[in-house]
Amino acid sequence: MDGNIVVIGSSNVDMIMKMHTLPSEGETITNATFQQVFGGKGANQAVAAARAGGKVTFVNCVGKIDPYHPKMINNFEEDGINTNFIYKCDNVASGHALVMIGDDGKNYLSVAPGANYMLTPDLIDKSLSAISSADIILLQFEIPLKTIEYILSIAEEKDIPILWNMAPAQPFDTSILQKVKFFVVNESEASFITGKKVNTIDSAKKACQELALLGPKIVIVTLGAQGVVYNLNDETHFIPAFKVIAEDTTAAGDVFCGSFAVALTENKRIEDAIRFATAASALSVQKIGAQPSIPMRKAIDDFLNA
Ligand code: ADP
Repeated sequence: MDGNIVVIGSSNVDMIMKMHTLPSEGETITNATFQQVFGGKGANQAVAAARAGGKVTFVNCVGKIDPYHPKMINNFEEDGINTNFIYKCDNVASGHALVMIGDDGKNYLSVAPGANYMLTPDLIDKSLSAISSADIILLQFEIPLKTIEYILSIAEEKDIPILWNMAPAQPFDTSILQKVKFFVVNESEASFITGKKVNTIDSAKKACQELALLGPKIVIVTLGAQGVVYNLNDETHFIPAFKVIAEDTTAAGDVFCGSFAVALTENKRIEDAIRFATAASALSVQKIGAQPSIPMRKAIDDFLNA
């Protein structure tokens, strides 16, 4: 194994405004504070895997008509990510998220997928040289479903394991889960797909068993500050989260997936790979911002050794 991780997914420019109270319809708030950060689940997972020590290629589309994409690509390069398969699309903006957050944590959120929806099967064909050399492929759900289905069929043909983080939750034909080796969902995604409330260790174990019957070898249900439930050899297990003071849990699941993939390419046992990912995500929730909070390998190792 060369340890090649190929992340195929979204990148977003996040525009965040914080304010005391959210405006009602037609109202203008004039004392908000503004912050622009980079996000998108694909991008976050690529950065998380790279900082955790992985050899990462990111397959992604950005839009030429927004002024942010050169900085976004430059940031990926600074993290050591191969950006040769990031496509610059004409007449479209990169994915953008507009976020308004009130003091009480309530928020308005709108996403314009923009270039992320230009990542179509023909661009997957153009990326085959990278995809063919992958030891694992990471997918999320912020690109078109037909592209995900196409990647799954290629991966099956080439016998490349897929980790699918089905986020954000949307309807899909669950028969495609037969082509997924690692299926990672949080509480609300597990509830969405099983149609049953998942919020406890017990309910997560049940969901895990139910989802494993649909095909994935390993199903992982992340339970935020509680920890992680997963199945292995017909048994379900629970690994608690590290007890830390959380400042901002945005992208915790992305850090989990990216660092978990690195541990897998290092041939760690599943339980050790999950512990590694749990440590990386515990570090990330202690800092504000998605990509700024993603830890480096040394910090993860130090945390695990402490
Ligand atoms: P998502 O970001 O997809 O909603 P979760 O919130 O379930 O995912 O978080 C993923 C993982 O990150 C958890 O399983 C846990 O290991 C870690 N994590 C999340 N929140 C906390 C927290 N408050 N304290 C410690 N670890 C956390």
